Amino acid sequence: MEASAMPHLGQAASAACTMATSFLAPVKTERQIYENSMLEDDPNANSVVPNSSEDRVKPRWGPNHKGAQELANLYSGGKRIQEVICFSVCIILMSLNILFILVRIKLENLSSIVLAAFCGIITADFISGFAHWAADTWGSIEIPIIGKNFLRPFREHHIDPTSITRHDFIETNGDTFAVTIPVLCKLSWDFFCLSEFEIQKKFFWICFWYQLTIFVALTNQIHKWSHTYFGLPSYVIWLQEYHIILPRRHHRVHHVAPHETYFCITTGWLNWPLEKLRFWYILEYIIERITGYKPRDDDMKWAQKRS
Ligand SMILES: [Zn+2]
Ligand SMILES: [Zn+2]
Repeated sequence: MEASAMPHLGQAASAACTMATSFLAPVKTERQIYENSMLEDDPNANSVVPNSSEDRVKPRWGPNHKGAQELANLYSGGKRIQEVICFSVCIILMSLNILFILVRIKLENLSSIVLAAFCGIITADFISGFAHWAADTWGSIEIPIIGKNFLRPFREHHIDPTSITRHDFIETNGDTFAVTIPVLCKLSWDFFCLSEFEIQKKFFWICFWYQLTIFVALTNQIHKWSHTYFGLPSYVIWLQEYHIILPRRHHRVHHVAPHETYFCITTGWLNWPLEKLRFWYILEYIIERITGYKPRDDDMKWAQKRS
């Protein structure tokens, strides 16, 4: 090899190293996490040194944040009734559909059921990310019906992430169970109306849609576990440690202000690739250019209601 080629090789190697280092760098550094998110694994705040005297009087996060208290008080009796009804309807439809599926399971279609489960969990992770991103980034509490009933929990969650651990089963899971109802209705309709031949022909898709509804319905429970640092059952900790469901340290990345990445909360498997593709950033850029709305405007407004 000619001596003149050596410096070029050296430059290429160092450029490749720099690219690899920035590609593999953590999405948020330990310092960013420490300074811009609530330390949920330290409930007595032993390791927290408030940045200013204002932080001590007007907390940036947690149950004493004035904005969080105002949002918590907007959880209404009507909303509770809607959650109980949706949850009950969903459980009835899930039970009915699983009976229809179980009587048709054969040894030869087991592999397609497993494949349908894998596709279902990936799709659920993407849906969780998309819905979470849309609710965090756009709209406001002032929008009639949608604002107070469906966007409110997202705003509350950023300024008091631990509030979810104090919500009961219905408040935690009511909305994620509710969104599966149309799909479960369609599946039941197919079981009642299609011939046995037609059901067998689309059995993979039936299994896919059914398992998708299960993973979507469980999403906020999994999300709640990712905020629970004490008293989790050992099987949940095992699932988190092997990253089968959303791990706690992984979800911390989303909770670093201004909450602009790592929106997927079922397994979190898609968070890293979507971040590297700058997927959310590009979507926000396009929407801002078309509509003129600024991403996270309402979220920022609530974060600043500290007194
Ligand atoms: Zn969020
Ligand atoms: Zn969260």
